[in-house]
Amino acid sequence: MGGQEGRLKCFIAMNIFHHNHSHNDSELTRALSDSANKQSSRIRRIVIVGCIINALLMILKLTAGYFGHSDALMADGYHSLNDFGADLIMLLFIGISFKKADGRYSYGYGKYETFSTFLISVFLLFVAVHISEEAIEAIIEYNNGVILPQPDIWTVVVVVISMFAKEFLFRYYRHGAKTTSTMALLTNAWHHRSDAMASVATLIGVSFAHFLGEPWRILDPIASLVLVIFIVVAAFRMLKPAFIELMDHSCNGEMVVKAENIVKSIPGVRSLIHTKSRKNGHFYIFDFTIGIDPKLTVEEGWKISETIQERLHEELGKNMLISINTAPCKQ
Ligand SMILES: [Zn+2]
Repeated sequence: MGGQEGRLKCFIAMNIFHHNHSHNDSELTRALSDSANKQSSRIRRIVIVGCIINALLMILKLTAGYFGHSDALMADGYHSLNDFGADLIMLLFIGISFKKADGRYSYGYGKYETFSTFLISVFLLFVAVHISEEAIEAIIEYNNGVILPQPDIWTVVVVVISMFAKEFLFRYYRHGAKTTSTMALLTNAWHHRSDAMASVATLIGVSFAHFLGEPWRILDPIASLVLVIFIVVAAFRMLKPAFIELMDHSCNGEMVVKAENIVKSIPGVRSLIHTKSRKNGHFYIFDFTIGIDPKLTVEEGWKISETIQERLHEELGKNMLISINTAPCKQ
């Protein structure tokens, strides 16, 4: 991989991953074609900072939540695990999912990334069930007159640290989005802001449970149920695009229509008989069957196919794998 090409690929990888995460297709495509080469190492640096902070928050929250007796903080910690996992998959799989197709994977390695995303979101759904069980158990115990343990003062400190860290990441990503004009970063910036908001729920639960005495300790498991909602939403956001890609769902309608219009506009194409499409990691795979004049030579038919490929790559990007069948069409 040459320097420039390598950097371009990283940039594409990040953007398309974020597309999965954030449904931001057209904006990302634009960002890609605008500023591809120069910005990618900066974007990568921003994502690495986000990944490290998410990892630290995950460790802090899970440890403090476990030893400090706070279900809410544990739940918040699992959410950080999700964010960290998503960042890590993206950074790790930039290389492998762009590994050139070979004899073993003739369509390339893109689905490694998709499958990891799928796994992490399924794992999170199990975590959500586990957290809910614990919280509901605590609430039932509380109703039966059991005194819930008091969350440690450290749990409150950790939640406050987390809120500041997430607010910092929001501003850092937003600044990065402006200087690199990358919408994907802005979407992620708002994700950090929403995490800061989720931590407000944790803060209420943990600090009320800590400071206000025994009757208020019920707020800790209640706050963890609120956090379950955030976890489930985040999990489904990752799960859905990953799942449909694994199931060979067609590419999005807008893209298919654009591609079909380009094919139909090529001289020599008499009809477009059918289109099949699917996504594989960072690649869009299209199969077209076109009708052409039966009197054309094989060479002339071949030329038409080549023109179609070139035009599609020009208009919709290089990350398209295209195959074209020709059929005779009298009129
Ligand atoms: Zn998050």
